[in-house]
Amino acid sequence: MPAPSLAQRSLAANAGVVRESLAKAKLSLADFANLISPAASGLLDHLARRSHTMTQQRFGKVIRLFAPLYLSNECINNCQYCGFSRDNPILRVTLSLDEMKREAAELKSQGFRNILLVAGEHPKFVSNHYLRECVAALHAEWPGISLEVGPMETADYAPLVAAGADGLVVYQETYDRKVYADMHTAGPKRNFDWRLETPERACAAGFRRLGISPLYGLADWRYEAICVAAHADYLLRNCWKAQLTISLPRLRPCAGEFQPLTHMSDRDLAQLVCALRLMFPDVGLVLSTREPAKLRDGLLPLGITMMSAGSHTEPGGYTGAGREKLHQTVRGRIVELASGAPVAPKPRLSGEGASEWAGAPENATAATGQFEVADSRSSQEVADLIRKLGYEPVWKDWDAALSA
Ligand code: SF4
Repeated sequence: MPAPSLAQRSLAANAGVVRESLAKAKLSLADFANLISPAASGLLDHLARRSHTMTQQRFGKVIRLFAPLYLSNECINNCQYCGFSRDNPILRVTLSLDEMKREAAELKSQGFRNILLVAGEHPKFVSNHYLRECVAALHAEWPGISLEVGPMETADYAPLVAAGADGLVVYQETYDRKVYADMHTAGPKRNFDWRLETPERACAAGFRRLGISPLYGLADWRYEAICVAAHADYLLRNCWKAQLTISLPRLRPCAGEFQPLTHMSDRDLAQLVCALRLMFPDVGLVLSTREPAKLRDGLLPLGITMMSAGSHTEPGGYTGAGREKLHQTVRGRIVELASGAPVAPKPRLSGEGASEWAGAPENATAATGQFEVADSRSSQEVADLIRKLGYEPVWKDWDAALSA
């Protein structure tokens, strides 16, 4: 059944069909649609107990921790919802190899051994050669290195795998082609299919961990959830050598002041965690610092297996590395910062905790982040909380450690 029909079916489901789906040992996509239905929301306690038990049976009482390391916030794409969009007049920088190592050393000193290298898509600043050098520089000390960068051909991924990268994360952002076209107004990211096929190219290149997700807040969340479930099901059958993770990012405030187009409540998010776990017992579920501390703590026992902690979404955010190289871009063109230089527009944000995305040159102390982090606790505070909840924080990918 096509995803739009399944989304309709989900809205029409009643408690009876939800219970029937819950009784099955192996769920179909139609069952998954039932579990994310409004009717299943009334059975959330039941879903949560099942999901909690299944997660502990499959993963034990552990939460893997990872940290994003932003290499660059340069980007040639215009994605309406992203602070790094080409046309946003933000403060930008690309870390040098030494600056990247400083950031990684700080994360290592905090305990992390699993790192996610993130960069906007900009072949000039973030070349394949640069990425390979970054991975090679970290390989000896980092058992887990994942990438979240512009999609590539299989042949371009292969040298990154050879250098030591083992994971690739690529969010489809939205599985709704119309919304996708509206959101991606310039740059190579406009090609929906090229992005959708990225995990398969990554798998063919030898990445053994793949991460996928929509970005909730663009299209109807039930439609997106059904599509990511179908995508995951496809990848589990066709890229079976790789481990799969599904993230659950909701839109956060960012430069450009984009407002979510659709709403997904905290309860919807909790229901989705449970439904994904029941549908995919062995798939890792990732929760980032996009969500506030209290909600993360509450979602953790439901089915989450991996979390970021103490995250910064700006290059140099952990150590201040690269700050002396900051520049503004105005419609993609570099404007050097100098005393008396024009002040970049300061976007206003509604709601609490709004931050200044691009300040005056004299205040230019940091590159602009991709989005505003909601859980600002340190990595140690998050690790302590995980222990308090009766789980063990694991700072590295144990499979990589075993095969090292
Ligand atoms: S979402 Fe990615 S590709 Fe789009 S503007 Fe942001 S960094 Fe660039």
